Amino acid sequence: MESDIIANNILIVDDQIPNLRVLTAMLKEKNYQVRKATDGETAIEAVEIEPPDLIILDIKMPGMDGYEVCQSLKLNDATKDIPIIFISALNEVFDKVKAFDVGGIDYITKPFQEEEVLARIKSQLTIKQQQRLLEKEKERLKQEIQKRKEIEASLYQSRALISSIVNNSLDGVAALEAVRNPRTGNIEDFRCLIVNPIMAKIFNQQSEDLIGKLVFKRFINKVELNSFDDFVGVVETGISLQKDFSYEYKGEKRWYSCIAVKLTDGFSVTVRDITERKKQELELNNFASIDSLTGISNRRIFDQTLGKEWQTCQREKQPLALIIMDIDYFKKYNDYYGHQKGDNCLIRVAQATYKVIKRPRDLVARYGGEEFAIILPNTDRKGAMTIANMVQQQIKELAIPHERSEVSPFVSVSLGISCVIPTTESSPNTLVDMADRAMYTAKQQGRNMAIAYTSS
Ligand code: GH3
Ligand code: MG
Ligand code: MG
Repeated sequence: MESDIIANNILIVDDQIPNLRVLTAMLKEKNYQVRKATDGETAIEAVEIEPPDLIILDIKMPGMDGYEVCQSLKLNDATKDIPIIFISALNEVFDKVKAFDVGGIDYITKPFQEEEVLARIKSQLTIKQQQRLLEKEKERLKQEIQKRKEIEASLYQSRALISSIVNNSLDGVAALEAVRNPRTGNIEDFRCLIVNPIMAKIFNQQSEDLIGKLVFKRFINKVELNSFDDFVGVVETGISLQKDFSYEYKGEKRWYSCIAVKLTDGFSVTVRDITERKKQELELNNFASIDSLTGISNRRIFDQTLGKEWQTCQREKQPLALIIMDIDYFKKYNDYYGHQKGDNCLIRVAQATYKVIKRPRDLVARYGGEEFAIILPNTDRKGAMTIANMVQQQIKELAIPHERSEVSPFVSVSLGISCVIPTTESSPNTLVDMADRAMYTAKQQGRNMAIAYTSS
């Protein structure tokens, strides 16, 4: 700090040249930079051109006196802070109170003692220097406070933005942090940090009831057993998880699609309600596999199932039986009773047949217009014949009048049965072919009967 003070610039104002000389020499000796003025007006000009760090100002001067010079400098913002030390001869009338009133900070009386003058100057410059440092520090603090305010404002804005996005999202959004076992480091549960209203609603809770709570593991295991480990996997591997799950609440089942992404030591998760889409998918699936008139499986499902059961029975070396059933004189039924009644008849025959079939792997399908097929895995010829007779009996019991039938007063059916243990040499087509032929044999032999295929 000493060196800073030495470099200081001092203006001496005195109309007495000898005084100027003595003071200048004394200060230059101490390495101060010194400028001189012999009257008030010149002094003010010099200050305005280049403000000094300190002014030593004589009071009694021709023209402007020291008080006036001091007052004038104190009125100017650019110069008001320059410290002014008055000098005055002891024999002069010197009003010390006035000296301070007009803004002086100290005074020296002539003749002066060198050490005293230097000490006073030095002390004023030190004060000035410290004020300057203080000013600088204040300025630095002001800038820092401003910078912090700006950072806080931008943080506040991004928080507001994030929370408005999260809270207005149509998807459930949550962020969870891992809670680890302090000894093993394994994840034991997740704590909810952020839960938006939609997410809370999915779980029939309020956001406040979930935030900060350790409820994840208990909840997710209720939704889908063992899926907790999938979420642990997201955190441990960083690989995102996409998963659909269903959740039933008060008897209403809803479907959700969930995406979990690792977030420091935890994950963020968005959950979207896909119930409507799932319902449509299920409907479409049904549409593609169900015969729209009778409500039983359609031809596509028949072909699919027959192929699948063929493989299974071949592997298990089990018999696979097939029944093909055709309504007798159905053309005549339609012609006599009309197409609408014909449709109703088909529905009732289909439902009666469906009722007979009990095993989960059995399948009843609408095979063609008024033809039905029954797939019976792990069933031998005798068993298939029993089923065929039961179906025939069930339809007989419907007792649907058929005035134009040549074999019965009621609607009747002819059934053909085939049964093989599937091999690699044969195919499902042979089974269908044999059942078809057996059915035609039943027609030929008078209808309203079940016949099993034999090679002869
Ligand atoms: P058969 O005893 O030899 O089987 O004689 P059929 O008259 O039953 O045989 P045919 O194959 O000549 O006639 C089948 C008839 O089934 C033709 C058509 O009028 C009727 N049919 C086919 N599909 C439908 C349907 O979806 N609804 C109605 N109402 N009738 C159908
Ligand atoms: Mg037919
Ligand atoms: Mg027919």
